[in-house]
Amino acid sequence: MTEQLTRLGCLLLALAIGGCGQPKDPVFHDQFFAFGTLIEISLYGVDAQLAESISEEIEQEFMGMHASWHAWQPSVLSSLNDHLSRLEPTTTDSSILPLLGEAGRLSQQSGGLFNPVIGNLIALWGFHDNPLPVGTLPDGAAIKDLVEQAPTVSDITIGDDLITSVNPSAAYDLGGFAKGYAIDLAINRLRASGIENAIINAGGDLRVIGQHGNRPWRIGIRHPRESRILASIEVSGDTSVFTSGDYERFFEVDGKRYHHIIDPRTGYPARSTTSVTVIHSDAATADAATTALFVAGPDQWLATARNMGIRYVMLIDKQGTIHMNPAMQSRIHFESGLDAQISLSARLQ
Ligand code: ADP
Ligand code: MG
Repeated sequence: MTEQLTRLGCLLLALAIGGCGQPKDPVFHDQFFAFGTLIEISLYGVDAQLAESISEEIEQEFMGMHASWHAWQPSVLSSLNDHLSRLEPTTTDSSILPLLGEAGRLSQQSGGLFNPVIGNLIALWGFHDNPLPVGTLPDGAAIKDLVEQAPTVSDITIGDDLITSVNPSAAYDLGGFAKGYAIDLAINRLRASGIENAIINAGGDLRVIGQHGNRPWRIGIRHPRESRILASIEVSGDTSVFTSGDYERFFEVDGKRYHHIIDPRTGYPARSTTSVTVIHSDAATADAATTALFVAGPDQWLATARNMGIRYVMLIDKQGTIHMNPAMQSRIHFESGLDAQISLSARLQ
C-alpha cells in the first residue's frame, strides 16, 4: 500500500508542477516524504541559503506532525484515542488542540460528512495499513454497529484542561485534514521569514502564495481514470487547490472498487463520486471540504459547499459527468479532447 501511495504521489506531483516554468527560473525545490506522500517545497526568488535552511525546518516540522498526529501508530493522537475509547477524561499535548478544534468546526459545517472521529470505521476497512485479506470485505455487522453508535465531534468536549468523550466509538483519524493543516502551518512559517512566492505541494494537494516571476503558477488536475492531466488552473496570490479521488487508495473485490473515503452515514465508501477538486484560500478548509464534498456527492455538494463557505468546486460523478459552479468553470481550463458531459450548477456565492 505504501508503495502504491508513493507512486501516486510522484505522479500527482509531476502533474501539479507541470508547466510551472522553464528550468532556468530561480526556483528552489526540496522534497521529502510525510503523511504517506511526497511533499515538495518550491520557493521562487529566494536566497539559496535561506531557502535551504527554511525548507529543512519545514521538513523537520512535517516529520514531527506526522509522528504526533498518527492515527494508528503510537502517537499523541493514538494515546488520546485510547483514553477517549475508555471515556476517561484526559489531557493531551497542547500543540494538537487547535488542530482538533478546527477539525471539529469544519465537521460541524459539513453536517458531519467530513467526520474526523470515524477512526474505527477507517480501521475496519483496512486503511490503517492493516489491509483485509485479498478478496474480503469487513464484517457487515461490525460496520452496522459502528454506524449505529454514530460517533460525531459533538461527542467530544475539548476543555481548557481536559478532553472528554461520551461515545466510546469516537476515535480521531485526521487523514482527511492533517495534510492541509500542516501546509497552512508551513506557509505561515515561510511568510514569517519574508518569503512571499512559494508552493507547498503534498502529492497534488497544494497551497500557493505569490506568483511565479511575473506570471501565475499553473496547476494540473489529474484525470481520475487516466494517467494524464484533465484540466489546469492558473493561480496566484494566496490559493489552495485540493483534490480527493477514489483512485488514491483502494482495493477491489469481485471487480468492485472499495476506496478510502467513507460515508459516515452508511459506513461504506461513498458511492457516487470519483473525484472532487476545491479551490479555497487556506489548505485546512480545502482539505476537509474535498472529503466532505466527495461524500456529499452530486446531489448534496452544492448545499455542503455553501455551508462550508467554499466558492469553487468541480465534482466528477461515477458516470463521468463533471459538476461545477459557474465561478469554477470560469477558472478551469480543460485539456483538448474533453468528451465528458458538464453539469453547471447554480452560483455558490
Ligand atoms: P487524500 O488525503 O487521500 O487526498 P482525503 O483528503 O479525502 O484524501 O482523505 C481521505 C482520508 O480521510 C482517509 O484515508 C481517512 O483517513 C479519512 N477519511 C475517510 N473518510 C472520511 C470522512 N468521511 N471524514 C473525515 N475523514 C475521512
Ligand atoms: Mg481531504
